[in-house]
Amino acid sequence: RAKDAGRGVYRLYEPELHVKAEERRILEMALRTALENGEMHLDYQPVVDARGQTLVGFEALLRWTSPRFGAIAPDKFIPLAEDARLIAPIGAWALHTACEEAARWPSEIRVAVNVSADQLQNPNFVTTVTSALANTGLSADRLELEVTENVFLSDALGATEVLERLLDLGVRLSLDDFGIGHSSLGYLSRTRFSAIKIDRSFVRDAAAGMREAVAIVHAVIALASSLDISTTAEGVETEAEHRMAQEFGCANVQGFYFGSPMPAEQARALANGRWRASAAA
Ligand code: C2E
Ligand code: MG
Ligand code: MG
Ligand code: MG
Repeated sequence: RAKDAGRGVYRLYEPELHVKAEERRILEMALRTALENGEMHLDYQPVVDARGQTLVGFEALLRWTSPRFGAIAPDKFIPLAEDARLIAPIGAWALHTACEEAARWPSEIRVAVNVSADQLQNPNFVTTVTSALANTGLSADRLELEVTENVFLSDALGATEVLERLLDLGVRLSLDDFGIGHSSLGYLSRTRFSAIKIDRSFVRDAAAGMREAVAIVHAVIALASSLDISTTAEGVETEAEHRMAQEFGCANVQGFYFGSPMPAEQARALANGRWRASAAA
């Protein structure tokens, strides 16, 4: 279409496209050595019970700080890692590191690790999880793997079967970002999820009283509860959002209101009993 509009348009768009491709190429190069250079770390965000009193676990969130480009958001570098076929080593590192850290926490506190559709399609993924558990001694039921509905979209590669094999290891599965995307309830009958994480956009809209969001959040929580699946409200930022999650019957809550993603040392301190003191601060 740009071509039809004439040469002037071409000149307008082409340099920008070029810069984007160039930026991607340079970032990708930096990403190739990021792990070995120790530029990656995990932050941990608390997940607490709906009353906001008991710490139930942490979600591990990948961070990349490039000495050259600064902090780069996972929404940006994870797709890049997938395209560059770097997600397997990075994902394996994240799994190992998160399990190693969680093994130092009291045994009732779990760790959740995000897994992208791309990672799940790798035939070695189940082995990666098995090794992470074996090498760190973390008991499988303390590891929760978060997947989004995306994993079911190209089920030619048998996502359901891979999830089944992961369940056989004894790990928990949760369905992340629920409500956005395709959200077919059918996924819930295909795989035994322990928890549904209700996407932040629904939490926000339901707390603001938007009718559709209220109806959907109610329906999801009722359905989950009848299927014995737990629910977590994601991205809770305000007292009103917390109140909504609690009144609607969400089991757990997560969000800046309760704690931002934090370095491992800080998470460890919270895990070891200093949760309430910090939460009140
Ligand atoms: P996610 O799994 O849905 O993670 C929740 C995101 O929401 C995180 O963003 C977190 O920092 C942010 N968040 C938490 N509480 C609040 C809140 O109260 N308000 C708002 N506005 N945001 C909140 P982050 O860390 O930038 O991660 C973005 C996404 O990148 C994650 O979404 C996840 O899909 C992906 N990701 C992160 N770490 C990993 C990883 O180790 N492996 C894979 N495959 N994906 C990862
Ligand atoms: Mg997640
Ligand atoms: Mg999420
Ligand atoms: Mg997300």
